[in-house]
Amino acid sequence: MKRYVGKGVFAAAAYGRIKILESSKIPVAETKAENTEKEKKRFENAKSEAISQLQEIYEKALEETGEENAQIFSIHMMLLEDEDFNDAVIDNIQSMKVSADYAVYKAGEDFSHLFSSMDDPYMKARCADIIDISQRLVKILSGVSVEDDCPVTTDEKVIICAEDLTPSETVNLDKNKVAAFVTVYGSSNSHTAILARNMNIPAVIGIGNDFFKEIKDGDFAVCDGSTGEVFVNPDEKTVGLMEDKQRKDAERLRLLQELKGKESITLDGRKIKLFANIGSVSGVSAVIENDADGIGLFRSEFLYLEGKDYPGEEEQFSAYKKVLEDMKGKKVIIRTLDIGADKQVDYFNLKKEENPALGNRAVRLCLSRPELFRTQLRALYRASVYGNLGIMFPMITSVWEVEKILNFCSLVKKELENEGSRFDENIEIGIMIETPAAAIISDRLAKYVDFFSVGTNDLTQYTLACDRQNSDIEDFCNPHHEAVMRLIKTACDNAHKNGIWIGICGELAGDTTVTEEFLKMGIDELSVSPSYVLKLRDKIRRIRLG
Ligand code: PEP
Ligand code: MG
Repeated sequence: MKRYVGKGVFAAAAYGRIKILESSKIPVAETKAENTEKEKKRFENAKSEAISQLQEIYEKALEETGEENAQIFSIHMMLLEDEDFNDAVIDNIQSMKVSADYAVYKAGEDFSHLFSSMDDPYMKARCADIIDISQRLVKILSGVSVEDDCPVTTDEKVIICAEDLTPSETVNLDKNKVAAFVTVYGSSNSHTAILARNMNIPAVIGIGNDFFKEIKDGDFAVCDGSTGEVFVNPDEKTVGLMEDKQRKDAERLRLLQELKGKESITLDGRKIKLFANIGSVSGVSAVIENDADGIGLFRSEFLYLEGKDYPGEEEQFSAYKKVLEDMKGKKVIIRTLDIGADKQVDYFNLKKEENPALGNRAVRLCLSRPELFRTQLRALYRASVYGNLGIMFPMITSVWEVEKILNFCSLVKKELENEGSRFDENIEIGIMIETPAAAIISDRLAKYVDFFSVGTNDLTQYTLACDRQNSDIEDFCNPHHEAVMRLIKTACDNAHKNGIWIGICGELAGDTTVTEEFLKMGIDELSVSPSYVLKLRDKIRRIRLG
């Protein structure tokens, strides 16, 4: 038996025989082509074919894994139409006098290198998407069937092992034949990891090259997505333990479904608002599917990250209105723009900073660019009549910031009133407690707002002086640290002394090892990723506060 460890993506156990998926990436040699017009036409035809293939995959993904995952393939369709990508291909054909196959291949390689050199982990992870679309085009141009990508022919379920998987490869695999995924590379932000998580298939990524060199097709293996462990040719005891784990996982999942429609209430009757976090309009379906009581954090950045230019008031208004309508009167807390630090957008033309996490980000940026802030606030207020909206402001450190923000809100409301536009007068206004400063002066801040929401991701980073992006110091970046917990307790006490409610929307909200401690502090709301809602409800319903 040999044990390997990677990063678990979906916490469930699986076992089966290994099926190695060799990279289906076709390298393309530089072939000269004098007739550039003909090559451009071939490229256009291949693009049309790729779009119709992607439309089919989109529908398959929609049926099997839901709207949010299917969106990946809409993004691929958009990438195919991307002006920069198209210009690069045409330019390669024209200036290098090469075949459309090579022009596409080269553009794909160039763009993927560009993405992989970016600091932002989200952009880094887009590398696989670019390779995916350029390979689709190359295969169409060279007449290779895309079906050849999914060669699982056995009846028994297998553990798919690959250096990396593209989103198309992941979704094209017959789900009924896949016990688990194991990849040498890949990050937890990659679309493949997201797909695996949402398809409820255990996955271990980043297992390392040794694993790939040492395994062979048909080896028996067990894979534990919760610990990231993979055992190849395991002994009987390990198989037994894993079978046991698998039985328990399946039973736990079944039991959790029974909690839908039930209250999030402790054994001694304390009700907790159990909300969910989303990052796009399509995320609402998962919130409803998992029966969350509302949305505790809607990261509005996606509107800015997806486009090539600032999203206008109408675009934002439609997005917020849709979420509010879909949530049918349940609370929706939308956080205003949190750009800067790890979330960079080219068209913002932000100045290069020595310490971006301590720089011009989030509300600081909004206050220094009033027009940007005004547009978002106008869209939010106008959308407020379509549901139960709360607005939350990130990265607060001082009372003057809150005063200035509230001033902005008053000006926007006046403007809308003068124009005769409707808005809800009773929107709850909240701030994030994600800096030690905000927690320490929370007694004063509480006088200005209706609620607090603790962002434990940033609160941990700023309290412990640990860059949350730096995986080398993960051991030092401990959200359970006494200092972090004491700051949360301070904010909680100050919120209640001033008659406002307090929630937690950082990752720690979903950590069931500290749920009891949070409830004992008096935390009123927990907002977690949709897939954690039922697990957390189960935990809350087993707690007796005494
Ligand atoms: C946080 O900091 O905990 C938080 C919820 O915000 P984000 O992760 O988007 O910075
Ligand atoms: Mg934050």
